[in-house]
Amino acid sequence: MAWDFSTEADFQEKLDWIRDFVDNEIIPIELIQGGLNQSQLDQLWAPLKEKVKAKNLWSPHLGPEHGGQGMGQLKLGLIHEILGRSELAPEIFNCQGPDSGNAELLAVGATEAQRERWLYPLMRGEVRSTFSLTEPHIASSDPTAITTQCKQDGDEWVINGHKWYASNASVSDFTVLMAVTNSDAAPHQRASMLVVPRGTPGMTVVRDVGTMSHPMHQTDDQLAPFISDRIGGHSEVLFDNCRVPLDHMIGQPGEGFLLAQKRLGGGRIHHCMRIIGQCHMAFEMMCERAVSRQTKGKTLAQLQMVQDSIAESAVEIETARLLTLKAAWTIDTRGGHGSESRTEIAMLKFHVPRILLTIIDRAIQLHGALGYTTDLPLEYMYRSGRALRIADGADEVHKQTVARQLLKSTTAVEGFPSMHIPTRKKDAWEKFGHLVSAIKKNE
Ligand SMILES: Cc1cc2nc3c(=O)[nH]c(=O)nc-3n(C[C@H](O)[C@H](O)[C@H](O)COP(=O)(O)OP(=O)(O)OC[C@H]3O[C@@H](n4cnc5c(N)ncnc54)[C@H](O)[C@@H]3O)c2cc1C
Repeated sequence: MAWDFSTEADFQEKLDWIRDFVDNEIIPIELIQGGLNQSQLDQLWAPLKEKVKAKNLWSPHLGPEHGGQGMGQLKLGLIHEILGRSELAPEIFNCQGPDSGNAELLAVGATEAQRERWLYPLMRGEVRSTFSLTEPHIASSDPTAITTQCKQDGDEWVINGHKWYASNASVSDFTVLMAVTNSDAAPHQRASMLVVPRGTPGMTVVRDVGTMSHPMHQTDDQLAPFISDRIGGHSEVLFDNCRVPLDHMIGQPGEGFLLAQKRLGGGRIHHCMRIIGQCHMAFEMMCERAVSRQTKGKTLAQLQMVQDSIAESAVEIETARLLTLKAAWTIDTRGGHGSESRTEIAMLKFHVPRILLTIIDRAIQLHGALGYTTDLPLEYMYRSGRALRIADGADEVHKQTVARQLLKSTTAVEGFPSMHIPTRKKDAWEKFGHLVSAIKKNE
């Protein structure tokens, strides 16, 4: 019996340090960094990163053999729950997406020479990366439908295609690209994974797309589309006869799906624990306002409808948190980069973002007009939180995974359902009726 919800004392000390560091050193920097470009931001962030390294918390997502801390998903989950309080914090700990997911992919799929070139610099925080699968003109929820082509020509791969939502591509040093190498193969063996370094001729970042979280990336000037000079953009990218050497393929031709799965398991846990960190923030704001604001001689906290909101939110956060930590535990105990824990991971991926939006919505409501202003972080949290029901797989796709996995182990019955009472009574009478008859006879 190994169920245990406690946290080891020495790890709790680390968590306490992280909480203090995020709230008192990272969040204040985040508030005043607007307008700086990436190289200026890197200068501003460098001392914070040094403090994380000094605490041995740098790159916590991979094992020491790859330059990380090797903590396992459960501990990583608890760290991400705190890092979720700030958009900047994962970067300061070098465990931000998409770099951490790409690092996982390179750790499992790359040769040692490729790791030297791309993985270890990522783990040291010397370079940035992009992951590019999604295309504007196909439903990318189904990656078997991607159209970007990659053909061998002599000792090079030649790439042609149109991608978008390639996060950070305007500033990253390389892109991990998923493209079709054999259109005739079985659907899950058509695509492969390649690294395309920044500046490779034929790869053009067309623009960073304006989004709900970054509406300012939208521009009316068709001749000068917005291209971000810092991380956080979602790029539209064209590949036009873009050539990379053959050794830029990760794994074998046709292993693209296999590798894509391996980068996702842990990443979804980290995503969801960061979302729970956001839930905690919205909830703390809600509670503070409830006890601080008065109406008709009472605090908001004394009103039953407000209490309802607070109680519902507390239970929702706790259930979402336990669901996510259980999924982390299943990866730690079953291994397989999450492939053995698909159901648990899919469950939390659609459940947790939904909880976040509900709780932020309640927090906005409780703050009244103030909640709707940009004077509080809630409106931004709500806008950026909405992406999480789409990014990394739309809710519906994850629901489908959950239902399919669960139904696989269910056996169909002929005739009445197995809980049909008259049938069960008949069977019970046949099996145990003599016991009832004997008691009745004795009376
Ligand atoms: C903020 C953000 C960051 C992102 N970062 C990256 C990135 O770095 N790299 C990258 O490659 N992509 C990235 N994406 C893209 C993201 O992964 C895709 O948007 C997502 O996989 C959905 O693909 P799609 O947009 O083509 O939607 P579609 O596949 O067209 O789906 C649209 C809608 O159709 C419905 N639907 C689709 N399939 C099903 C189904 N099987 N059953 C029922 N309903 C269904 C759902 O309502 C779904 O939302 C990012 C997206 C966002 C919002």
